[in-house]
Amino acid sequence: MSLIVQKFGGTSVGDTDRIGMVADKVAGFRAQGHSVVVVVSAMSGETNRLIELAHSVQERPVLRELDVLLSTGEQVTTALLSMALSKRGVKAKSYTGSQVRILTDDAHTKARIREIDDERLHRDLADGYVIVVAGFQGVDENGNITTLGRGGSDTTAVALAAALKADECQIYTDVDGVYTTDPRVVSEARRLSRITFEEMLEMASMGSKVLQIRSVEFAGKYNVPLRVLHSFKDGPGTLITMEDDSEMEMPTIAGIAFNRDEAKLTIEGVPDMPGMAYSILGPIGEANIEVDVIVQNISHDKTADFTFTVGRNDLERAEEVLNQVAKDINAEKVTSDSKIAKVSVVGVGMRSHAGVASQMFAALAEVGINILMITTSEIKISVIIEEKFLELAVRALHSSFGLEKEPNDEGAA
Ligand code: ADP
Ligand code: ASP
Ligand code: MG
Repeated sequence: MSLIVQKFGGTSVGDTDRIGMVADKVAGFRAQGHSVVVVVSAMSGETNRLIELAHSVQERPVLRELDVLLSTGEQVTTALLSMALSKRGVKAKSYTGSQVRILTDDAHTKARIREIDDERLHRDLADGYVIVVAGFQGVDENGNITTLGRGGSDTTAVALAAALKADECQIYTDVDGVYTTDPRVVSEARRLSRITFEEMLEMASMGSKVLQIRSVEFAGKYNVPLRVLHSFKDGPGTLITMEDDSEMEMPTIAGIAFNRDEAKLTIEGVPDMPGMAYSILGPIGEANIEVDVIVQNISHDKTADFTFTVGRNDLERAEEVLNQVAKDINAEKVTSDSKIAKVSVVGVGMRSHAGVASQMFAALAEVGINILMITTSEIKISVIIEEKFLELAVRALHSSFGLEKEPNDEGAA
C-alpha cells in the first residue's frame, strides 16, 4: 500500500462526466488500498474565462483580487470531485490551498510555495479519506490568496508529494506521456518512456507546457518520483528520472521544445563603451521584467545594436522602459517585434556529442529558415526565428534528429 498524489488537469475534469470518470479512477486506487491525495485544475477554459472577466472590469486588474477570482476555478472542481467520490462510496474531503495552508510568498499571480502544513492531511489520510486539493493556489503570510502561475496545479501536486513523502506523483493529462515534441504539432512525435529531470526542466522552460517548470524543479530538488500519464487510457506514461538511474545510453537529443511567448526588442546605435549593457538591462530588471536571449553586435561606426527577448506580456512595459533608456544613453532608436518564436533542441547527450548545433542550423537552412538569434547551454540549443516558420522548423528538426524512431532503432526503418 502506498501514498500517491494524483493531479488531473483541466481537460480531464472538463465536464461532470469526466469528473465522474476521474472519480472512478481514484476509487479504483482506493480499492487497491492506496492512500490518495488528488490535486485538480479548474475545468478546462475556466481560468481563461475568469481572466477575461477580470479584464472586462479593469484593464490591469489588481493582482490581489485577480488571485481571489482565479482561485475559484479550482475550488469548484474540488467540491464536484469530492461529491462524485462520495457518491461512489469513497470518503473524500475537499480543501482550498489556503485551507491546507500551502504557504507561499506574496508575489500575486506567480507566487512560489514556501511551506506546506501536512498535519491535517496526514490526519485525514489516517482516517481513510481521499483528500482533494485545489491546485494552483496558496496563501501568503498575511492570509491573502495567491496563485502559482499558469499550469501551477502541477507544482501543487509535486509540492504536496514532497511534503507528504509520497511514493509517486502522477500527473494525469490529455496525452499519454511526454513526447519528443508537442504531438499536436508533429504527428510523428514519439512518447518517451523516460526523460531525465534535467532534460524535462529544459523542455519545460523552453516552452513544453506538459509540465509547469516549477513542478519539475521541485521534483528534482526533493527527489519526487514523477510520472506523466493519460487520464483515461491505460499505459506506462513517462517517468521523469535522475540521470544515473538509467543504464541505457542516452540519445543525443531527447526532444524539441518551442514557444511563442516571447518578443524581441532592439536598441540601436548604443555608444560602444563600458557599462552600456548594464544601463540597458538594469532598468529592465528593476521593472521586474525577465530577459531571456541577449545579442549584441558592434558595427564599424563604433556603436552597438543591443537585442534581447522578453515575455510577450511584458513587451509594452519593456518598450516604455527602453525608450527612456534610449534617451538617457543617447542611443538612436528602439524597435520591437512580437512575431517571433523560440525553438530549442534539448538533450543531455549533447554533452558528449559534437555537431548538434551544426546539424540544427543545417536542418533549418535546408527549409529556408533564417535564424535571428542563437543561445546555447550545456544541454540545449535555442534559436529565435520568425513565428510564421515555427511549425516548419519543429518538423524539420524532429525529422533531422530522427526523433520519430526508437533510440535503438537506427537504420531499422
Ligand atoms: P493539463 O490541462 O492536463 O495540465 P496541458 O495542456 O497543460 O494539460 O498539457 C498537456 C499538453 O501539453 C498536451 O495536450 C500537448 O499538446 C502539450 N505538449 C507540449 N509539449 C509536449 C510534449 N513534449 N509532450 C507531451 N505533450 C506536450
Ligand atoms: N487552472 C490553471 C491554469 O489554467 C492552473 C492549472 O491548470 O494548472 O493555468
Ligand atoms: Mg498543465
